[in-house]
Amino acid sequence: MTELAYLADLPSAYVRAFRSRVTALPPGGVVLERTYFYPTGGGQPADHGVLRIGEHRWEVTDVGRSGSAVVHRIRAVGGAPRAPPIGGEVEGELDWARRYRHMRLHTGQHLLSARVFSRTGLRTVKANLSGATASLDLEGELDPALIRDLESDLGEALRSPHTVSIRQVPRAEWDARPTAPRSGLVPLAPQVDPVRVVEIEAEDACPCGGTHVRSTAEIGRTRLAPPVSRPGAGSRLVFTLVETELTAPPA
Ligand SMILES: [Zn+2]
Repeated sequence: MTELAYLADLPSAYVRAFRSRVTALPPGGVVLERTYFYPTGGGQPADHGVLRIGEHRWEVTDVGRSGSAVVHRIRAVGGAPRAPPIGGEVEGELDWARRYRHMRLHTGQHLLSARVFSRTGLRTVKANLSGATASLDLEGELDPALIRDLESDLGEALRSPHTVSIRQVPRAEWDARPTAPRSGLVPLAPQVDPVRVVEIEAEDACPCGGTHVRSTAEIGRTRLAPPVSRPGAGSRLVFTLVETELTAPPA
C-alpha cells in the first residue's frame, strides 16, 4: 500500500521533492511507502520526474495505480542499476512545470464546469487534461453564443481571485447537501466516506482526488474554443492555458 501524500491537504499538492522508502519492485517499476507523484486517474495525467539515491538517478516516465499500490515506471540514467534496492531511501523530485500546468488546468476545469452548470444546467460527464489543454465533455449541446460569457467568467476569476480549499465531508452530510450537484453523473462508490471535496470559494464544491492550485488567480489567462458538437453524446468544450510556463507564487 502506498500513502498518497499529495492528497492530505491543498498545500501538499505543492510539494515537489520528498524522501521515501522502496517497498516493492514490480517489473519495470518501483513502489514507495509514500509518494507525491500523481498516478494517472480522473482525467489527470501522471506526474513525471526523477528518483535518486546518491549519484544514481532513475527517470520516472509514468505512474499508475495497481490495487492499493502506486507503481512508478522508471528508466535508469547513466550507470545507475536497473532499480533502487528494496528498503532503500530515495529522493523523489517531480517535473514541476508539468505538474503545475495540470494543477492550473484541473482547477480551471472545476471553475468552468461550475459556470457552465450555473448558466445552463449542463453537467460535465468527463474531463481530460493534456499538455496545456483541458477538455470537458458536457451532457448536452452548449449554445456557442455563451462562449463570450464563459470567457469573461474565467477572466473575472483571475482579476478577483477565489480561494481553493479541501474539506473532508462526512458522506451522510455530502449526500444530504441541499443544492443540486453539478457533478454526480458518475456516482461516488458506496465506501467513500469521508468525501474529499474541493471547494472554490463562493463558486463550486466537487468531490475530487486530483491536485489543484490555491487560488483561481494561479490558473492564469486561458483561451476558450467554440464548443464542438458530439452527435448523440452532447458537446465538448476545450480551453488552453495562455501562459504555459507560469510557476507557483510562494505560499
Ligand atoms: Zn479536481
